[in-house]
Order: sequence, then structure tokens, then C-alpha cells
Amino acid sequence: MRQRLIVGNWKMNLLQAEALAFVDELESAGAVSGDGVEVVICPPYTALAALGGRGLRSITLGAQNCHARQKGAFTGEISAEMLTDAGCRYVILGHSERRRDQHETDVEIGNKANHALHSGLRPIICLGEQLEERQSGRTHEVINRQIDGIIGSAGAQVMSQAVVAYEPVWAIGTGLAATAEQAQEVHSSIREHLIKHGVSGTVPLLYGGSVTGGNAADLFACADIDGALVGGASLKAPEFAVIVQHARDVR
Ligand code: PEP
Repeated sequence: MRQRLIVGNWKMNLLQAEALAFVDELESAGAVSGDGVEVVICPPYTALAALGGRGLRSITLGAQNCHARQKGAFTGEISAEMLTDAGCRYVILGHSERRRDQHETDVEIGNKANHALHSGLRPIICLGEQLEERQSGRTHEVINRQIDGIIGSAGAQVMSQAVVAYEPVWAIGTGLAATAEQAQEVHSSIREHLIKHGVSGTVPLLYGGSVTGGNAADLFACADIDGALVGGASLKAPEFAVIVQHARDVR
């Protein structure tokens, strides 16, 4: 049985007081772990510290990035140990916004995943193709290349303990989610490719990209979709709660 997760990526949103109030709202709306579904929220660092200090029980904390080294002269960076110390259990790595803005490579993402895991954080590793890559029929080639690069630096053992999020770049923040059929097709190919590398077949595979309360049920009904990485809709407590409920309803 594979683990199911709903992960909220708050990106660069919410001040500390807003984050504390928002988590109360999530809890009242029922956007919490249960029925075999773990709910993870990845706030910005400042809010993370505030939420970690509060000791949440029904929601797990994650971060949106970490450095590949433990400590040192890396101005502006944060280490996996610091995140664990602040109460984090997960870290999103290789989000397409960081690949685009910070030019993160698959090798760096693999190095970060390795360090994160050895520091007590479970990596949530993002993969995804650009629109023109999909339109030119290169989706599988691109995703497989990302997997090969990450496993090349992290190793199959690390990947076996991670979570993988398929996030087509054209679907992120656009309101244009992949259809359940498109997502399932890529997820099953990701699972097959991971297994070829000797990675466990039970790695949870999340879909990300314009997930809403309206499309979550269809996505979660797919055989290889084990949950979602949610951006915009994780900042709307009632809608996030609907997504969580759809994940809990899957048997
Ligand atoms: C994301 O940024 O990881 C994401 C999936 O965003 P959205 O849900 O807003 O498309």
C-alpha cells in the first residue's frame, strides 16, 4: 500500500500572524491528516519557524528548499538541519520556479535530496516538462532525463525514500491542469522508469499543477496518483479541505 499525501506549497505568501491564523482555519475546515492521508504544509521560512514553535499535530510541516551542505559560508541559504530543528519533516526540491529562477540542475537537486534525507527530511522531488516539450512529443524523454540526473547524484536508495511530484510546468498557476488521463499516463511511466533504476515501486507519486476542489477527485481516482502538490488552492482553506477530503475518500 502506497502512502497518500496532500502537500500545500504556500510559496512566498503569508506573514507569521497570518500563517498562524490560516492554520487555525485549515484545521477548522478539516484540512488535516487522517484516513491514511498525510497533510503537509510548506510555508515560507519565517512562518515555518512560527508554526514549528506551535507544535502542530494534525498537519506536518515542510520547507520549499534547502542547501546541499550542512553549514558554512552560504549567505542567504538554509540547511536541512536547520529545517529539521524548526520542526520540518519534508522539503520540496527542484520546483520548476527554482529550476527557472535559480537555475537548479538535476545533479544539484539530487545532492540536496541526499543531504536532506540524511538530515531527517523527506525530499519531495519535482519533475515536469515545459509546454513546448509536451507539444513536440518529448514529455517522457524530458522526465526520464530529469530522473536519470537526480538518481545519478542521489542514488536509487535516496530516491526510494523520497516522494516524487509530477508538475507539468504549463499547468502550474495557469488554471490549466493536466487531465486525469494525461497525468496518469506520465505517472505510470515515471513509476516504470524509477523501477528500472532499482527504486522502490511504492514511492508516492503526487500530481501538481492547478489542482482544485473541482478536479481533485478525478486525479485521485487514477491508479498511479497518490496525492497532490497544491499551490494556489492551498491558500484557500475551504478549497484545500475539499482536496484533502477527496484524497481521504479514495479507497
Ligand atoms: C506549485 O507551484 O507547486 C503548484 C502546483 O501551483 P498551482 O497549484 O497553483 O498550480
